[in-house]
Amino acid sequence: HSDLDFIRQQIRTVPDWPSAGVQFRDITPLLSSPKAFRVLIDQFVHRYFDARPTAIAGLDARGFIIGSVLAYELNIGFVPIRKKGKLPFTTVQESYELEYGSATVEIHTDAVGPQDRVVLIDDLIATGGTMLAGLRLLQRLGAEVIEGAAIVDLPELGGSDRIRAAGLPLHTLVSFE
Ligand code: 5GP
Repeated sequence: HSDLDFIRQQIRTVPDWPSAGVQFRDITPLLSSPKAFRVLIDQFVHRYFDARPTAIAGLDARGFIIGSVLAYELNIGFVPIRKKGKLPFTTVQESYELEYGSATVEIHTDAVGPQDRVVLIDDLIATGGTMLAGLRLLQRLGAEVIEGAAIVDLPELGGSDRIRAAGLPLHTLVSFE
């Protein structure tokens, strides 16, 4: 698939960032190239046009960039799931374990409800912890989460398997070993 090959080629691998031994998959070249950005967003627009979600939920922070443009194109609303301490109104929170320590994400309590069919989006799936925490937040507010979506899967870290095992269909465009 040439569009997916093109997308894969625009992702830059930065060795030893943010720490030794990590190969960081940098998606910023996909955003700065108008052609690549359009090809990228169109992948998700075509995927979700017929599914008629009522909202896109994006994970802090790169999920905001692609999720907001996708929501605009689908003519539906965008909902941010933020790292703890950034949202001003009433929130619900979910914490999850990291390699060192833990992280907490939150969402406004009125962001979605039982009437909603939501696509949850981020740039990349590693251990899956971030997307699973987002899934729990949306479910606690009564929303139906129809699919998780990301540009990149790192399947060897097991996150995509964990997400699917939790019952959330997952759609990713490219993967790196
Ligand atoms: P997980 O929770 O699945 O372990 O990690 C995924 C989260 O960490 C995503 O929000 C993603 O933005 C970020 N992340 C972890 N590793 C990378 C990486 O190599 N590249 C990018 N772009 N994001 C990463």
